[in-house]
Amino acid sequence: MSDDKPTLTIALSKGRIFEQALPLLAAADLHPSEDPESSRKLILATNDPCVKLVIIRASDVPTYVEYGAADLGIAGKDVLLEHGGDGLYEPLDLRIARCRLMVAGRPDASLEPTAARGRLRIATKYVRSAERHFAAKGQQVEIIKLYGSMELSPLVGLSDLIVDLVESGGTLKANGLVPLEHIGDISSRLIVNKAAWKMKHARVTGLVEALRAAVEGNA
Ligand code: ATP
Ligand code: MG
Repeated sequence: MSDDKPTLTIALSKGRIFEQALPLLAAADLHPSEDPESSRKLILATNDPCVKLVIIRASDVPTYVEYGAADLGIAGKDVLLEHGGDGLYEPLDLRIARCRLMVAGRPDASLEPTAARGRLRIATKYVRSAERHFAAKGQQVEIIKLYGSMELSPLVGLSDLIVDLVESGGTLKANGLVPLEHIGDISSRLIVNKAAWKMKHARVTGLVEALRAAVEGNA
């Protein structure tokens, strides 16, 4: 392998991120050889013999990139906020997989602690973001870590509120919940391993700029 054409490994998850990243990758002239929905392969070749994709859980993408198992990755800001951004560069907002991180609950839910219960109970997959949000309001809350189906939790009395991603609000509504407080806007970001940024600088920045042009073209 010559120095001017080092290999690049890009980590991303299948589902909405893969689907929405495809047109951006195509604009950067990268075309995966297979569809991860139908293939069981975890490593996908592309039309560029020096570029491969690794297909992993959304929440594992920052870990692969931080440790250099992948040079680049595509990860939701929600996942990056939980992971902590220190070990990574985040040069580009890809503006895909957009949604909002919100506090939600039953329509009659209180956002303040009640006399009956000292601390509000918050069920969420996003423990750090939830803690930070309530701490910024000066509120001590009890966080209950869940891995999915957060909407169930207030219905069965596990929690007073949830912190979850909301796109249309349809899932909340279907479960009798309403959005109550906006925590932040979420979209997927391009992330880069710090060593790869230095060692493969021309290749990495070439790809970042091609993706930036594709994102701005879509704006
Ligand atoms: P896993 O299945 O591994 O638990 P996940 O459920 O987070 O992961 P996806 O549902 O594919 O996996 O979500 C990947 C990313 O897409 C999330 O991290 C978030 O940034 C974004 N996302 C999640 N839900 C929505 C949504 N309803 N609308 C838009 N973007 C979303
Ligand atoms: Mg999901």
